Amino acid sequence: MKIAIIGIGSVGSAVATAVKNTGFVHEIVLFDRNAIRARAAAEDLGHAASFGFDVKITSVNSYRGIRGSDIVIIAAGANQKPGETRLDLLNKNVAVIEDIVPHVMANVDAKKVKIIVVTNPLDVLVMLTQKLSKLPAGRVIGTGTMLDSARLRTILSRQLSVSTQSICAHVLGEHGDSSVVDWSSVSIAGMKLEDFCRQTKISLPQTTRNTITHRVHNAAYEIIQGRGATWDGIGAAVSDLLRCIINDEKRVLTVSCVSGIGNGTVAISLPRIVGKDGVITSLTPKLSATESAELRKSIKIVRKNYDNIMR
Ligand code: NAD
Repeated sequence: MKIAIIGIGSVGSAVATAVKNTGFVHEIVLFDRNAIRARAAAEDLGHAASFGFDVKITSVNSYRGIRGSDIVIIAAGANQKPGETRLDLLNKNVAVIEDIVPHVMANVDAKKVKIIVVTNPLDVLVMLTQKLSKLPAGRVIGTGTMLDSARLRTILSRQLSVSTQSICAHVLGEHGDSSVVDWSSVSIAGMKLEDFCRQTKISLPQTTRNTITHRVHNAAYEIIQGRGATWDGIGAAVSDLLRCIINDEKRVLTVSCVSGIGNGTVAISLPRIVGKDGVITSLTPKLSATESAELRKSIKIVRKNYDNIMR
């Protein structure tokens, strides 16, 4: 299994680190427009790999070097500075995607390649990548709200004193400020959240839920404030998504891909079954009236931003 990572900044490096530690990828190629940075990262990561699984990690100076890649991960482009929203990055990163995708498509097998988009604003760029690549929608996958859902499960785990592994909880919609916590579907070991709270005598009133939602929305801003950028969480998310694809696990992940919603198409995150061919099935959870309204608003924001760049 050969993986190419385009963009070897904080996120691309964290993705490479997480992926090399899994043991199911035998070759990782790194490309960055800053070739010196990519070469240095390949050296450093290569040394690190010698302590673990046998992975060949190389940097390439031209897109020809990504030939033979089964999966291409796009992690290039501007990141958020403190106070900036993901949508503030739109114009800069549209240019990055317009630069990268044609080069990628000229050097991969379009019949089987899958592209994973990480660059923000994620959902709009998933739509753009799918349009430029002309790949089937299910093979252009954005990490979407995988990270937001992980943040939600982590906060709930602390609040409920139960492992994240026993919590099923999803964040839907835009990977951005309009994302929607699907409180209606939260379950713990198959039990409804309310039943779990009753039995464990844990109180989770609406005010606490609102605080949790706020913390999920703000997590990236807080990390960027303290650390300059976020990378470990997304590195682990991409590695988990890769594992699901490579092993054809057919797990349900909240990833983003272009699909028909309402009377049009849009890329947002929904629970989707993911396997070796990418997104296989998209699921529509039963939401409360408030959550449905929030999701419609989120879809509108993604569509509006995509329409703006298409003008
Ligand atoms: P960074 O500045 O550390 O690295 C970006 C890299 O992209 C740089 O090395 C730069 O040289 C390279 N690059 C820029 N334009 C390029 C091009 N046209 N071709 C090849 N390489 C190019 O930024 P980062 O912190 O690694 O963030 C990268 C992206 O990931 C940002 O858009 C950020 O918002 C996004 N991100 C997404 C998530 C998520 O959950 N989806 C999480 C964190 C960060």
